[in-house]
Amino acid sequence: MKRVGIFGSTGSIGCNTLDVLARHPDAYRVEVLVAHGRVDALFAQVQRFHPAVVGLVDVARQEALLQRLASLPASERPELVIGQQAVDALAGDPRLDVVVAAVVGTAGLRSTWNALTAGKRVLLANKESLVAAGDLMLDVARRGGAQLLPIDSEHNAIFQCLPSEQASLVGQGMLPCGNRSIESIVLTASGGPFRDWPSERFAGITPDQACDHPNWSMGRKISVDSATMMNKGLEVIEAARLFGVDAGRIEVVVHPESVIHSMVRFVDGSVIAELGEPDMRTPIAHALAWPERIASGVDPLDFSALAGLHFEAPDMARFPALRLAFDALEKGGAAPLVINAANEVAVSAFLGHRIGFTDIPRAIEAALEYADGSGALVAPDSIEAVLERDHAVRDWTGQWCERPGEARLFTDRTSRQ
Ligand code: NDP
Repeated sequence: MKRVGIFGSTGSIGCNTLDVLARHPDAYRVEVLVAHGRVDALFAQVQRFHPAVVGLVDVARQEALLQRLASLPASERPELVIGQQAVDALAGDPRLDVVVAAVVGTAGLRSTWNALTAGKRVLLANKESLVAAGDLMLDVARRGGAQLLPIDSEHNAIFQCLPSEQASLVGQGMLPCGNRSIESIVLTASGGPFRDWPSERFAGITPDQACDHPNWSMGRKISVDSATMMNKGLEVIEAARLFGVDAGRIEVVVHPESVIHSMVRFVDGSVIAELGEPDMRTPIAHALAWPERIASGVDPLDFSALAGLHFEAPDMARFPALRLAFDALEKGGAAPLVINAANEVAVSAFLGHRIGFTDIPRAIEAALEYADGSGALVAPDSIEAVLERDHAVRDWTGQWCERPGEARLFTDRTSRQ
């Protein structure tokens, strides 16, 4: 019986994970559930899965959760942990064998770090952790004896396409692609909801339009990332970190059906792909049980119902965020951290109707230029330094978003600080 903790249990990945776990009550026990503030959703999960511990980040929602828990018989009431720091520490709790890192954004960095340090099997959805602090995360995974298994569908697909001895290396935080049999990693991208739109229409895109993804049902932040193609950009960096490939050995191909989840190209001309329904329960089930397989509840792929599989090159002129991610990967150092932090702030400003859709890549580019010009691209050497730099970039981008048309004024204001 494996004991599982889900960090971000009320989100899209968290709910998909619980759906898979519910199918295997003899093999997995839900030990810890963590959410930020959505108390009703969290309480419903407590009633169904009876975890030993519940973590709630938002202190202001504590009373509301306590009231709901009080309605349970005393024997079914979980231990309650409140506040970001205490909740993050739970990821290293000795009661856990498996940690599902499904918090959205850099907020998930600390819990991922704690789980890796404690040597857990970590099912990584939180790509932002690897983008902002990839080398440090892999290093601590190796030292902690952790197993780092990607559940981002593309990376999980690549993991499945690798020969088993190389996949084992990934699981231990080691890099498999120094092996010269691998020519390149091919990441597929759906292209998002605006794949066919002319760029003249982009300025009028609303948050609801951006969150209406054609193939995948996801949280709002990653949905906007998919719409700008920044999600693919973050995944390019995530793939470089996990599989030890440089930017020149990562290809992105737009594949609107999202049936092929990614591929590995080998030097002999073979290409191995992983196919399936676009449903996150497949990669989650795969990483939970690896190297075994368990049922996920996902429908089998019906080949006779497929109208066709299509592929095209990404258009980096209409989707400049993808180009910026490749630039950041090539620049190295803290550049990936900078674009990740700037993106998160810009997406939040867009969702709050404070900036337009096309301002998102502008904000990222401005932050990258600013950081480059102020010597802030040197790689941080500790997790604390990562969080500090992330904070500084967030502050900067937050101010840029207040006046997106007036970057010059902002630069003046910053230089006076
Ligand atoms: P959601 O927005 O749906 O869910 C986010 C979860 O994180 C919620 O449970 C939320 O709690 C919790 N949370 C938010 N802030 C904090 C915090 N500070 N500390 C602890 N918990 C917090 O996101 P998704 O499930 O869509 O995405 C999660 C991660 O997985 C992201 O990194 C995303 O890029 C990645 N991913 C997602 C995919 C998908 O299909 N959704 C696919 C591949 C990767 P509350 O509900 O209380 O606010």
